[in-house]
Amino acid sequence: MDYDTYGSSAVELAIDLANADLEPDDGVSRFLASHDEWFTPGTSLDLTPAEAERTLATALLVRAVALAESQPEVLTRLNQLLALARPRPYATDHDGELHLHYARPDAPALEQLTTTVAMGLSQVVVQHGWQRLGVCSAEGCDDVYVDTSRNASRRYCSNTCASRSTVAAYRARQKS
Ligand SMILES: [Zn+2]
Ligand SMILES: [Zn+2]
Repeated sequence: MDYDTYGSSAVELAIDLANADLEPDDGVSRFLASHDEWFTPGTSLDLTPAEAERTLATALLVRAVALAESQPEVLTRLNQLLALARPRPYATDHDGELHLHYARPDAPALEQLTTTVAMGLSQVVVQHGWQRLGVCSAEGCDDVYVDTSRNASRRYCSNTCASRSTVAAYRARQKS
């Protein structure tokens, strides 16, 4: 999996968004502040309450795509997400590497976020298959992930969940 391109790393923004705790009043602003490298410098990250609601809706759609269990279901949800995007790509080398950005540089924060997330997620789905998206198998965790392993063997959202589950399985074996 070519993981060096902006297109593929944008999917990580999508996954982060789907897993973020956006429900508290400042949840959305905290998410934007901790991901400000994704926005054109100077973009206002202050969202109106209506925009914050739409950010939540985008996050739920990303999650819905990751949880979908069949290709038709993935396509329906992915296309709902893409309908919110306003792609107007441009090429840039702002970080020294030539790459594409999906949203116009002067778009408002919500438009940049939704467009980047929708395009990043759909690129991974069409290039690598929707089975690359999944939900963590650890008990008590429902975070979603994108599987970038060579053999598509990932089952957990993080190393923390993976080792927690290994320990739990070990203890269970000890008991029996
Ligand atoms: Zn960039
Ligand atoms: Zn997990």
